[in-house]
Amino acid sequence: MLRFSGSGVTDVGLVRDHNEDSAFVGPYLALVADGVGGAAAGEIASATTTYAVSALALGRPDADPREVLREAVALARVQLLEGVTHDVRRAGMATTLTAVATDGSRVALAHVGDSRAYLVHEGRLAQLSSDHTYVQQLVEQGHLTTDQARVHPWKNVVLRALPGSDVGEVEVADVLELDVAPGDRLLLCSDGLSDLVTDDQLSEALALGDPQSAAATLVEEALAAGGVDNITCVVLDVVDGPRVVGDGVLLGAVRDLHNVVNPSAVQTP
Ligand code: CA
Repeated sequence: MLRFSGSGVTDVGLVRDHNEDSAFVGPYLALVADGVGGAAAGEIASATTTYAVSALALGRPDADPREVLREAVALARVQLLEGVTHDVRRAGMATTLTAVATDGSRVALAHVGDSRAYLVHEGRLAQLSSDHTYVQQLVEQGHLTTDQARVHPWKNVVLRALPGSDVGEVEVADVLELDVAPGDRLLLCSDGLSDLVTDDQLSEALALGDPQSAAATLVEEALAAGGVDNITCVVLDVVDGPRVVGDGVLLGAVRDLHNVVNPSAVQTP
């Protein structure tokens, strides 16, 4: 059976005074969420989403991972809306979400915003997610090169995220099945990493033997490049083996349950 064997590191960075990123690393689910919003709402958005998605996925180990991720995104949206209803100062809060899930045979990715998922297959690095940003749209339309996008003054303008507002039945996240195999390595990261670390640095660090060393090296490199934002990265090896017991590890803002709008809304098994 397929599962993930991985490790994550998050760091507040050198400029921000608190960490608005959250992450989860488990054998059947891993994710990164990067929150935005004034009045301490960024960490509420990322923590609430991380908690809702991980708790829901833990309760559905055998379901189609695409369905699990779609349901989890819907639950997170309800929770974010509830959070704004309870405290109007959180209006405008939102979060990215980049999550991978597996039921042991299928692997799915859910993605919204400008966090990223990468795959290393047979030593070659490929970006699996497409940034929901204004500059990425310009790249896809042929108006900018990827190098120009990297330094563009509007590179942080995100077109899609999980909002704390009611946007109706619109599908906000891309959900797709991934073609991965044992031996592949996945990287999930917030833009605090991908804005500061080059593809060559990513490839080099991801070639390190164990996920913990790779994740720690990448965070060190983002800090060395200025650490201007919160930095989160999760490195996962896709492995084949018997089902394991163990829920996973929470990282970043979600480690403080005060940041989760309503922890009891999701029953963990
Ligand atoms: Ca960020």
